[in-house]
Amino acid sequence: MRARAAVLTEFESPFHVGEVELSGPGPGQLVVRMTAAPFCSTDWMGWRAMRRKVPPVILGHTAVGVVGSVGAGVTDLAAGTRVLVAGTPQCGECFYCGIGRPDQCSVLLEGGDPVVGALPDGRPVRAAGRVGAYAEHLLVDRIQVHRLPDELGDEVACLLGCGISTALGAVFTIAEVQPGQSVAVVGLGHLGLWAVQGARLAGAGSIIAVDGHPARRALAGRLGATALVDAFRGDPVEHVRALTEGRGADVVIEAAGPALATRQAVEMARRAGTVVLAGVAHSATEVPLPQLQLTVHGKRLLGCQNGQMTPDVDLPRWMALLASGELDPTPFLGRDYRLDEIDTVARRSLALDDLTGVLHP
Ligand SMILES: [Zn+2]
Ligand SMILES: [Zn+2]
Repeated sequence: MRARAAVLTEFESPFHVGEVELSGPGPGQLVVRMTAAPFCSTDWMGWRAMRRKVPPVILGHTAVGVVGSVGAGVTDLAAGTRVLVAGTPQCGECFYCGIGRPDQCSVLLEGGDPVVGALPDGRPVRAAGRVGAYAEHLLVDRIQVHRLPDELGDEVACLLGCGISTALGAVFTIAEVQPGQSVAVVGLGHLGLWAVQGARLAGAGSIIAVDGHPARRALAGRLGATALVDAFRGDPVEHVRALTEGRGADVVIEAAGPALATRQAVEMARRAGTVVLAGVAHSATEVPLPQLQLTVHGKRLLGCQNGQMTPDVDLPRWMALLASGELDPTPFLGRDYRLDEIDTVARRSLALDDLTGVLHP
């Protein structure tokens, strides 16, 4: 079938918005008519050749939409069902799904971006993260599609597969933040701001929000941060230590990405503290770390792919927190764009003008 899509045909060039011929649905696949897709900072990194993408490629790693046609073997999702397309599949068959770590599912991390169709000139088109959200129709696997409750609007629900699941998983599943603990969040993009909210829900005793952007620090304050640290003024590590009786935070969540932020996050943690690394930068980024702090000081450094999500367990948990109002999506909403405006969305994301722009077909 034909679908309009915003295709990255060349790095750092305007997106090509035009027709793509989708090559499915095959067995185990379905077509989802996209209604909302968040523009994530990882996508401008993809656009800038920082994420090992192979053009022509449709970016966008999560979306909300409505089921259209389904392939053979897809018997439990009828046309018309509202769904979330998550960036992390859960195949249930690979080694990692078998050990309870579907966040590392081999379908995603060994399968690469699949070819989902072709441009009119015959060139094959890939779907980033097996989703390729910036299109009117998405050809996806059943194993990454989840039903949505009626009470969640499209603009809110589409954030589940991106910042919400990553941040809440970082807080609850990976760091296992305990009531009363001090939590520092480094980087206040949508990921960090959801982490601030997650820390508040976990009952953190203090939440220290660190960023160089004044408006985002202010927003973190409204969402539950108890102290705000300007990352660009003085030494943010010293500031965090000063706010934690000289020790450093019990838990640090790194949600920024640059190597310097990662190093600072490690230094901000107290001895035997926990550091969750959730931010990403260039795929080839290397991070020099103070060895003594990892060995003698016993700091625990934990990685984070989409919040170590077990999709069929965690997504319903996060949906319930949104539906009950315990998680506040309001600051993240209100920036809506048409697919044709994708260059504007990308520019605004890069310039930190938007927290999360949401694309609609
Ligand atoms: Zn798997
Ligand atoms: Zn994302």
